[in-house]
Amino acid sequence: MGTMHMLGLAKRVKARFLLASTSEVYGDPELHPQSEEYWGNVNPIGIRSCYDEGKRVAETPAFDYHRQNDVDIRVARIFNTYGARMLENDGRVVSNFVVQALSATPLTVYGNGSQTRSFCYVSDMVDGLIRLMNSCHTGPINPGNPDEYTILDLAQIIQKIVNPEVAIQFEPLPQDDPRRRRPDIHKARSRLGWQPTVALSQGLQATIADFRSRLETTPCTDTNRIWTVQS
Ligand code: UDP
Repeated sequence: MGTMHMLGLAKRVKARFLLASTSEVYGDPELHPQSEEYWGNVNPIGIRSCYDEGKRVAETPAFDYHRQNDVDIRVARIFNTYGARMLENDGRVVSNFVVQALSATPLTVYGNGSQTRSFCYVSDMVDGLIRLMNSCHTGPINPGNPDEYTILDLAQIIQKIVNPEVAIQFEPLPQDDPRRRRPDIHKARSRLGWQPTVALSQGLQATIADFRSRLETTPCTDTNRIWTVQS
C-alpha cells in the first residue's frame, strides 16, 4: 500500500521513484548466481512470504505506473548489505555475529552453516543506488557484492577477527531459508559502471570498530541488546 501511495505521489509531482526491492524476490533460487531475468522460487505461504511476496508485488505496480503513467521508476533488488551503524538488535547475521563475538557469547549459526550469502558493504550499496538514480535505466538491477561465503565461513572470519575463544553454536535452520545467494552484477557493471570496492575483511573491520565503540558507550538494557544483560 505504501508503494502504491508513493507511486501516486510520484506521478502527480513527476518525481523519479526508487523502489528498494530485494534479492528475496528470487526466494530459494534454482538459478545461481541470480540475474535480473530470473523469476524466482518463492513459497507463497511460508514464514518469509509476507516480505518476499510483498516486495515481489510492489514491483508490479511500479512497472504498471511506468508503462501506463510514465512514472520514472528505478527498481533495485538489494542483496545482503551490512556495515557501520546497523542496529545491534537488527537480527541479521552480520550484526548478530559481531555483537555476539564482542560480548563473548556463542555465535548462533542456523542449520549447519552451509547456506551462502554475498555481503555488500553499505557505502558500495549507497553508491550503486545513487548511480541507478542518476542513470536512465529503470532496472530491475542487482546491487550486491558477488563474493559468496557460507554462513559458517562468516562466523569463523568474525570469530578470528574479534575473539578466537568464542564458541560457535548450531541452532535450527528457519523454514524456507534460501540455500544460496549471489548476485549476477553484469548489468550493474555495464549499465551503471558500478561494482563493489570494499572486500568483506575490510568492511568487517569497519563494522566491528563501529559496534565496539557503540557497545562501550551505550548503557546495556535487555531491550536494546540481543544477548543476556551483563550485570
Ligand atoms: N543466520 C544465522 N545466525 C544468525 C542470523 C542469521 O546463521 O544469528 C543465517 C540465516 O539463517 C541465513 C543467513 O544467516 O541463512 C542470512 O540471514 P539474514 O537474516 O542476515 O539475511 P537473509 O536470510 O534475509 O538473507
